[in-house]
Amino acid sequence: MNSNDTIELFKKYVIANYGRYPVNLVRGEGSVVWDSEDNRYLDLFPGWGCNLLGHCPPKVVKAVQDQVAKLIHVPNTWHMEAQGLWAKELSERSFGGQAFFCNSGTEANEAAIKLARLHTPKERYKIITFEGGFHGRTLGSLTATAQPKYHEGLGPLVAGFNYAPYGDLAAVEQLIDEETCAIMVEPIQGEGGVRIPPAGFLEGLRKLANENGLVLIFDEVQTGCGRTGHWFAYQHFGVTPDVMTLAKAVCGGIAGGAMLTTTEIAPSLRPGTHAATFGGNPIASVAGIATLQTMEEDNLLASAKQLGDYFRTRFEQLQQECNIIQEVRVLGVMVGVELTVDGAPVVQKCLERKLLVNCTQGRVIRLLPAMNLTMEQAEEGCKILEDVLKSLAAE
Ligand SMILES: *Cc1c(COP(=O)(O)O)cnc(C)c1O
Repeated sequence: MNSNDTIELFKKYVIANYGRYPVNLVRGEGSVVWDSEDNRYLDLFPGWGCNLLGHCPPKVVKAVQDQVAKLIHVPNTWHMEAQGLWAKELSERSFGGQAFFCNSGTEANEAAIKLARLHTPKERYKIITFEGGFHGRTLGSLTATAQPKYHEGLGPLVAGFNYAPYGDLAAVEQLIDEETCAIMVEPIQGEGGVRIPPAGFLEGLRKLANENGLVLIFDEVQTGCGRTGHWFAYQHFGVTPDVMTLAKAVCGGIAGGAMLTTTEIAPSLRPGTHAATFGGNPIASVAGIATLQTMEEDNLLASAKQLGDYFRTRFEQLQQECNIIQEVRVLGVMVGVELTVDGAPVVQKCLERKLLVNCTQGRVIRLLPAMNLTMEQAEEGCKILEDVLKSLAAE
């Protein structure tokens, strides 16, 4: 089916709640995708951050193919080896706790919100989150998301969320009262524009949580699983959360989510308090394991760091020559280039040159490339972006 016929199907049968490019993608390999007219695109934003190993990573494909013929799904009233092994692999790479599995980021955050309320005394229910944050679209996570544009028309929202400016410890301290149970934060804000926290901020949150008996939740849905060059972003900052949420890249492109917590807090999620029917199903579990194995065997944490260095150098150089670049923010394969002008034309011009990038917060060009992007591909993408940014700067 060609692009036009597919677009017609969408017009008739699919709710138009997304802005979609008029392109019908049909196959992908690594950091390249093709449309139904066989145009090749270089993808520096594969799967909106989910395809951290690029499109169709071979070990994930193989693991899913083998598993799908053996056992697709059984309920969480049974044990299944793959889920147990996946939990072990995640635990050993993080802070040694236990996992609850679900299917998406917003669900992982709902689990974290419920756990924080369950774990602390009854009168404590308030959760502090941060302006510019993003935690998902279901009502709890949406309320945790302190950006007015996501709330419009949806109230009343969930009670008990308080918002502080990102990076402002004094504001957090002021918001804490007898009813506060948790602080929830992205160690690096993703949708918020690749915002890297000021020095001492996460340490300060850890300290405030300790002093006030609060659960510290890190939403690593976007930053987790190797994206920043460490298994988890918190490992960069030397601050360990009590609860960490994962999704997006956690299953190498298959839908999956997880909430990890310490062995001390985990028992508060008692039987009957929470569940996800498809959570930790065998397909997601083997995909999750294969994802971690691929990163390890192919030494991709090191690659993510190298790529990060390359992007930083490249865009900082470009900033010298191009007056529309305001700031360059990079950690591993998480790249934000903040412009002084609207970023939408950049995305459009890149698409015309068959390069896929993203713009968030209106002015931040965001790249979430695969860790196994080749240096040639990185150069190819940067060259196109350079041309596009220079042409817009000259206008
Ligand atoms: C994408 C994202 C979410 C939501 O994940 P979904 O799988 O779309 O529900 C939550 N938190 C962060 C930090 C994200 O980037």
